[in-house]
Formats: sequence, C-alpha cells, structure tokens
Amino acid sequence: MTALSHLKGIIFDMDGTLVDSGLDFTAMRAEMGLRPGIPILEQLAELSQADRAAKEVILHRHELEGAKRASLIDGADRLLQALAREGRPMAIVTRNSTENTRRTLKFLNIGHYFDIVICRDDGPHKPDPWAILEICRRWQMTVDEVVMVGDYELDIQSALNAGCPSVLFTEGKNPATVEGNEHATHSATHFDELYHLLAPREDSI
Ligand SMILES: [Mg+2]
Repeated sequence: MTALSHLKGIIFDMDGTLVDSGLDFTAMRAEMGLRPGIPILEQLAELSQADRAAKEVILHRHELEGAKRASLIDGADRLLQALAREGRPMAIVTRNSTENTRRTLKFLNIGHYFDIVICRDDGPHKPDPWAILEICRRWQMTVDEVVMVGDYELDIQSALNAGCPSVLFTEGKNPATVEGNEHATHSATHFDELYHLLAPREDSI
C-alpha cells in the first residue's frame, strides 16, 4: 500500500469511525418494520410519504438517543489533534441527520476540527459520490488529493464512485472480515495505524 501523506484533505465518516453512538441498525430496522440487511435510508426512499414519515419518527428517536450517549472512539481525539497540527483541512460526510450530527459534534467538542460537515439532509447520501465531490469543489482539490475514511462499505463505495482513495477503519477487526474491504484502497485497524498512513513520521500520537 502506498502512503497517503501527500494528500491535502481528509474526509471522515462520523458514526462508527470517530464516534460510538451505539446505533443498533438491526434493532432499528426491526422496530421500523424494514427488511434486514438493507440500509435504512434506501428502504425509506421506497415508501409512501406517510409510511416514511411514521418510520422516520422511530429513526429520529434512535438517532437522538445515540447522540445523547455518544462517546469518542478511543484515540479519536488524539488522532484529530495530531492531524489538525498538520494543517490540512478535515471534513465529515455522514448519513446521520444535520440536527443529530451538530448535536453530537458539539457534545463531544470536536466540531471545530471540521470546516465542512455534510449530512443526509444536504444532498444525495453515500454511496453517492456527491458529498465528496462537493467537498473537493469547496476545497479546490482534485479527487486524488483527498481521502475518505470510514468503517462501512457505503463509505468505501462513495470513495470508489468519486474516484478518491479510501481507508477502511476497522477498530481492531481484521479488515478481511469487514464488508467493503475489497474496494478499499487502504485499511487501518487502529488510529495509530491510520495516523501513520496519513502522516508517516517517526513520533507516534
Ligand atoms: Mg460509519
């Protein structure tokens, strides 16, 4: 794997990558009466407006509860501090709602690290490449100058669709066992590994 130290901008997924909000998507789908194994937003998009609105009430309740109990994944604050010292811009692209994303970033006091935050309300969501391309446009960078870091195959697919490098972050799990690994250009099991991938240097965070 080639290092990513030459990159000019870093884009993160939020839930499961930087933040543990304990969202149980399997339980959420069950309570909403949705099919297992298929992402929630895609299933909601197929429903009538009334049916979708009723299920969104359940979705928002779970997301709000997640935001209230959210914690930083161990080492995320040190990673963000270290990357911020490098001076490269950072962004978040999340399928969470704007309201909950803002609440979570404020609660965990990490919002100041990101100069762009794009949520599902802002435009086509992952795996659509729109958010990555929009960030590149605002940063005035090409897609090969940014990287998408995420814990889920939709993060990796959005990077693939945009044409930018990607890092599958697995928080200790063997990347080969995590969906999306086959399309990720890079993987990292811990934040130290991710930091060295993004900014290789002698000292460690
Ligand atoms: Mg995630």
